[in-house]
Amino acid sequence: MDSRRNFLQKFVLSAFALPLMPLSGWANPLKLPIQTYEGPVLRVAIMGLGSYATRVAEAMQSSTKAKLVGLISGTPSKIKTWQAKYGIPEKNCYNYENYHNIKDNPDIDVVYVITPNALHHDQVIGAAKAGKHVICEKPMALTAKEGQEMIAACKQAKVKLLVGYRMHFEPNTLEVIRMRKNEEFGKIKFFQGLCGFKPGDPNQWRLNKELAGGGALMDIGIYAINGARYMVGEEPVWVTAQETKTDPVKFKPGVDETIQFHLGFPSGAVASCLSTYGMNNLDRFFLNGDKGFAEMLPSTGYGPIKGRTHLGELTQPIVTHQTVQMDEMAGIILEGKQPIVPVNGEEALKDLKIIDAIYLAVKTGKKTDLKL
Ligand code: NAD
Repeated sequence: MDSRRNFLQKFVLSAFALPLMPLSGWANPLKLPIQTYEGPVLRVAIMGLGSYATRVAEAMQSSTKAKLVGLISGTPSKIKTWQAKYGIPEKNCYNYENYHNIKDNPDIDVVYVITPNALHHDQVIGAAKAGKHVICEKPMALTAKEGQEMIAACKQAKVKLLVGYRMHFEPNTLEVIRMRKNEEFGKIKFFQGLCGFKPGDPNQWRLNKELAGGGALMDIGIYAINGARYMVGEEPVWVTAQETKTDPVKFKPGVDETIQFHLGFPSGAVASCLSTYGMNNLDRFFLNGDKGFAEMLPSTGYGPIKGRTHLGELTQPIVTHQTVQMDEMAGIILEGKQPIVPVNGEEALKDLKIIDAIYLAVKTGKKTDLKL
């Protein structure tokens, strides 16, 4: 009995210890005061009801500040299933031909674009022109030029553009960033980012240059690029890169299987990164300074994110990334909150400029200067 009571106490207390975890609907056997949220709620329509959208929608059920209220899909049967699951009214459901009519729908605040990479540009601009804020999945676009057009369209429409950089809200990641800013690692010298997985189905859009815009670099290597920037805390000024391909049948021209790249930073720090579709279980960040280090393994997967520094294990709360992301993005859009690491279009544009430069460096074999 005692151990059961201890368990219940720990369970309820740990629920309260985790910021932004869902409280409504949880049993509260000890009648502890429940924190209720009474602020504004971000009303979200998801565009593209695929596998990542499914994960985001599930996670949003636990969000206190964001709620799924609308759907945009080309597949009527998916709309029906999602409508039933999430209680979405018919008037908030659209397809790719008529979603511009969302401009006349006052019950939707933001469109979250979760479609193949090549579609992001037009769909984000379409949602912005309909007067809605936009969250777009990574990579924001295929090129920096596309990214600039999307930023300009959102500015013109006076709507916010955010990109789904869920790691920017992950507690252990933020702890390493805090320690780096606090100079606990000393002068940063080196970052290593290893990011990869093996995509299964050879017919999926990720392996189609037209829809993916490239290969592993666009999809998973972007985590190493973005991670290098937030871990080192500077913007890179040059890049070198080499590509290797072991399976030219699966990875057609324009679809990179493996790229190794280096980024140089103004302080003299260097990042060494590997982006690949050729290995599973590759998800590691390592940051080294002249006074200490941080190692994260896994570093960008869905979690739990684990790691250690020269001072010991990282022990921040384990969260569902997409739940925290949606809560925080609601704060950014509705209340003008400033995240610790930006998640806006300009932030994503820097990654796109680096991606452009990496592909150029692969092509020319030369060190390429970067101006972010
Ligand atoms: P997916 O293939 O599972 O889903 C894509 C959805 O887009 C499908 O529902 C599909 O029907 C729809 N779609 C609309 N037009 C399409 C077209 N012309 N061709 C193909 N599909 C079309 O893919 P996903 O894994 O959900 O990825 C979607 C986006 O989310 C990508 O940009 C990806 O990089 C991003 N993503 C982000 C994360 C993250 O952790 N932030 C994780 C996975 C995927």
